[in-house]
Amino acid sequence: MPEPSYAAQSAIGVAVRSRCPRCGRGRLFNGFLKLAPRCDVCGLDYSFADPADGPAFFVMMTAAVPATAFGIWLELTYNPPLWVHAVTTLPIVVIACTLPLRFFKGWLVAEQFIRKAEEGRISRPEASARDPT
Ligand SMILES: [Zn+2]
Repeated sequence: MPEPSYAAQSAIGVAVRSRCPRCGRGRLFNGFLKLAPRCDVCGLDYSFADPADGPAFFVMMTAAVPATAFGIWLELTYNPPLWVHAVTTLPIVVIACTLPLRFFKGWLVAEQFIRKAEEGRISRPEASARDPT
């Protein structure tokens, strides 16, 4: 039985919708950040996915820096009491660092699937030339 074909998916599109990078319909997550074992529509096994700390890196570069800069600006401009930071800066930093994680993880998993990325291997042609098997 031939494997069904799937329309090409946009990595950003499936990341925004948290959907399977192959079919674009099945759920990618089982919870907020935990990947599902496989797609519930096309059955794609998500065991290939290993974004490691990639999502955290992108969150630091895009959200954590501006959120922290806001806290620094608030402190230097108004020198408010500590409770003001507790009710403004702290929630802003927590929300800015938590919400984008799901998108970035979905995006990296989708890019990994679409570009067939996997762990690098060293090619040694001289070793296979010596080994007759
Ligand atoms: Zn799928």
